[in-house]
Amino acid sequence: MRETPPVTHAAIIGGGWAGLAAAVTLADADVPHTVFEAAKSLGGRARRVDVDGRVLDNGLHILIGAYRETLALVRKVAPAAAPYRRLPLTLEIADRFRLVCPHLPAPFHLLAGLARAHGLDWADRFAAARFMIGQRADGFRARPGETVAALLERTRQPPRNRTLLWEPLCVAALNTPPAEADAQVFLHVVRDGLNGAAGASDLVLPATDFGAMLPDPAAAYVTARSGTVRTGCAVKSIARAGSGFVVRNSDDELACTHVICATDPARAASLWRELPELATLAASLETLRYLPIVSIYLQYAAAVRLSSPMLGFVDGPAQWAFDRGALCGQHGLIGAVASAAVDIDRLSGDALAAEVDAQLRRHVPDLPSPEWHRVITERRATFACVPGMSRPPQRTALPRFLLAGDYTASDYPATLEAAVRSGIHCAHAVLEDR
Ligand SMILES: Cc1cc2nc3c(=O)[nH]c(=O)nc-3n(C[C@H](O)[C@H](O)[C@H](O)COP(=O)(O)OP(=O)(O)OC[C@H]3O[C@@H](n4cnc5c(N)ncnc54)[C@H](O)[C@@H]3O)c2cc1C
Repeated sequence: MRETPPVTHAAIIGGGWAGLAAAVTLADADVPHTVFEAAKSLGGRARRVDVDGRVLDNGLHILIGAYRETLALVRKVAPAAAPYRRLPLTLEIADRFRLVCPHLPAPFHLLAGLARAHGLDWADRFAAARFMIGQRADGFRARPGETVAALLERTRQPPRNRTLLWEPLCVAALNTPPAEADAQVFLHVVRDGLNGAAGASDLVLPATDFGAMLPDPAAAYVTARSGTVRTGCAVKSIARAGSGFVVRNSDDELACTHVICATDPARAASLWRELPELATLAASLETLRYLPIVSIYLQYAAAVRLSSPMLGFVDGPAQWAFDRGALCGQHGLIGAVASAAVDIDRLSGDALAAEVDAQLRRHVPDLPSPEWHRVITERRATFACVPGMSRPPQRTALPRFLLAGDYTASDYPATLEAAVRSGIHCAHAVLEDR
């Protein structure tokens, strides 16, 4: 006899990239589902924001070629669009370092790039190559509890390699300072990003806003099939109802056979108070610590350009600046990002924008004064990716109640790819019950 009821309806709570990936996967299988999103717009922590007539993103994001599932999802929902620019791995740190990796199989692309890199001497290049070859031989395995700083120490990486290569990569990917960051997750990023299949290390830079890149076409895709998308509709609670669930918001309720809870981790457990089976899981989510990311937009005269569409800095407060003119046609608009911004409250938004302007001025000749600025702070941008943290699996102790989100079990840090993979995984679990 069948123990699980057939799928009649799945509720997806949260319209970020995890929830939308789940929705698109269910739509492909023609499974009826409803996406509930508390905000007025979709996309969660990677969304479009409209400020003073400008289209911005809440946070400046980059993707890499190894984001296999995310890129496939974007291509599926908007096959005719060209929402990103794909470049061979290029890392430029202003006035200090430039690495361009040709399109060759790993690790030859990196070795060739290192051989021609500006800013490293031969001992540095040799040490970076030794790091990659050694990690390949060891299967990209860190020591238990090891931090990125300890890994770089153990593998005798010289100061320039740390400052110009490994530490910027760590902060950009894990949003956690190297002294605290989990070396194993970092090595997963190095394995998939620098040692993966051809094109895995490509930089994939958004050429449009983050609403147009996935959330808007994904919503159109699911509503044209078996899905319903409700924005501005916060779920208040989820309770058992027979062998299924009832999902309540302030106006009405929905009975469903499956729940995919795809909210951010900080808000997930507040919805489960009537589900004692999830009490341990709720308690474990409370132990997560979060780190902020600040995005600083500065509008200069339209002629202003950076030397590279994505330019790095080691003299803070921003680590990277993006030329939105070169990328998205927003000429003169520079978006800078300060990740792992633990000293976020040191400065007001205006003072931070002035510091970033001064920082750009040190590296960009003849920069005029900015005409406009806006600082967007995401205080809980990602969880702190530290050794020993436990990430919950997508299947919970409660049958047919699934968890999606960048914080759930994954080799990847809190990224779009972790979110998308988790959503697809949950949708496949729903499909198994059909
Ligand atoms: C500033 C910034 C920069 C980043 N840069 C990068 C980058 O360069 N590359 C990268 O890969 N990743 C980056 N990330 C991380 C990436 O954005 C996240 O990993 C990803 O967006 C998480 O998606 P998610 O769907 O798991 O969660 P979320 O995006 O948090 O989505 C959860 C959704 O649930 C909704 N919700 C919550 N409670 C309820 C409720 N009760 N009812 C209904 N809806 C609810 C929320 O409104 C939200 O829309 C960055 C993040 C930030 C903030």
